[in-house]
Amino acid sequence: MDLLEAGEALAAECARYTAMGWMRGTSGNLSVVLDRDPLRLAVTVSGKDKGELTADDVVIIDAEGATTDPVKIPSAEAGLHGRIAQVSGAGAVIHVHAMAPVVAGEYWPRGVPLRDLEMLKGFGRSAHDDDVLIPVVPNSQDMRVLGDAFEVGYRKDTPALIVARHGVYVWGDDLHQARHRAECLDWLLRFTVETRRDNR
Ligand SMILES: [Zn+2]
Repeated sequence: MDLLEAGEALAAECARYTAMGWMRGTSGNLSVVLDRDPLRLAVTVSGKDKGELTADDVVIIDAEGATTDPVKIPSAEAGLHGRIAQVSGAGAVIHVHAMAPVVAGEYWPRGVPLRDLEMLKGFGRSAHDDDVLIPVVPNSQDMRVLGDAFEVGYRKDTPALIVARHGVYVWGDDLHQARHRAECLDWLLRFTVETRRDNR
């Protein structure tokens, strides 16, 4: 994938997520891997309305989220995209401020347990007898701190991270797989919040 193709794909995905209420204001950011060695990603630029991005509103970053672009400013959260892509081997990382993951993180700050739900299949897990724990890490403005917390709880079979009082990261081989996982995870977390008991 070249930068123009990446820009077109990222703008289209952002428009979709904006329509779902997942990228309110200028929040959220998406990335796709352009090269592996060394790692290079295309990530959405900072500060723009995510419903109105064009193919040009992306910038290339390295594994630390740094860019050599003289003009465009990557999202402040780009460093965590790089870390996730590096550690997990993902080809695409999405970060959105969906409500259900944040509410779930509030109830289960040490991780959100999911089990025996059909939609787990859409997240890459089993619908029966599979104990899934979605990691929750405290929010931080320091992407190194967030990246370290992510690595502590990382499991290859659990492609998501909730950042408390903030949002969620979901990743996959490509933007489509990441989106499908994010949609299913949102359903799973909404169900779990709405059916919670006091003995959580
Ligand atoms: Zn965010």
